[in-house]
Amino acid sequence: MPELPDLEVVADALHAALAGRPVTAARATMPLSVRGTPAELAALIGQRLERVARRGKFLDLEFTGGRMVVNPMLTGRFQLAARGEKAPGGTALELRFGARQAGPPDAAAWTADAAWLPDGEAEPYLRYRDPTQMGKVYLVPAGVERVVPGRGVGEQGPDALNPELTLEVWRDRIRRHPGELKNLLRNQAFVAGLGNAYSDEVLFAARLAPFRKRSTLAAEEVDALYAAMRETLASSIAILRERVPPTFERQVRDHLAVHGRGDGPCPRCGGRLTQVSAGGFPTGYCRTCQR
Ligand SMILES: [Zn+2]
Repeated sequence: MPELPDLEVVADALHAALAGRPVTAARATMPLSVRGTPAELAALIGQRLERVARRGKFLDLEFTGGRMVVNPMLTGRFQLAARGEKAPGGTALELRFGARQAGPPDAAAWTADAAWLPDGEAEPYLRYRDPTQMGKVYLVPAGVERVVPGRGVGEQGPDALNPELTLEVWRDRIRRHPGELKNLLRNQAFVAGLGNAYSDEVLFAARLAPFRKRSTLAAEEVDALYAAMRETLASSIAILRERVPPTFERQVRDHLAVHGRGDGPCPRCGGRLTQVSAGGFPTGYCRTCQR
């Protein structure tokens, strides 16, 4: 399931590769995955992509005449195809872009001169692929009100990387949530961007057990959780920038310390990790060094 670090890298890359280019073709091959009319999809043709940005666990594509919002859920992935290679199975939506009309002036520094960037004259494809069709693509033309579940008022809290989510704001917001820490971190209304995998990683870094209740935390532990979240996300993004391009649909997870690690050794204390499936969500942690 794409989470904040995965989508951060994809958003930066797609912005650097595609912003400033007009859409020249648009095709929905799995219409169930698309919320919007065929006319709205066709109306993207001729519009220029202005920006690709991540908002929590969503990807927003901003065009000159509206937006496309993607919620990839469990299995949604993105592909950047420079030369129109055959679309892989499960492709739900395909956009073709023309030659660059204007550079993205604010492309992320790490993408500069990357070998996978299409030439300005190239006509690349962006594909959204989702074999289970659980994820959704919402077409939101300017002037159209379309409900995007998870993006309504109060449904999405501050992004986990938002500079305005300071330690003081964190301390204030977390008071309203007394429950278990893993559920708290996965709650997008509290903080947006963490899912099942990175919530486990943040709790490991903070040395806090996933089923511990927030109401039992000492003030230093609340602060440690904040620091662990920021550090875990930053270090993971740095790893993924190196490892994900040019295959943006690949989900790199082998750098994780506890999530999906079975009963392997804890990288900190060497004890045996514990895996449980609580409410259908696999959770990995160390009973020895997470309290
Ligand atoms: Zn341990």
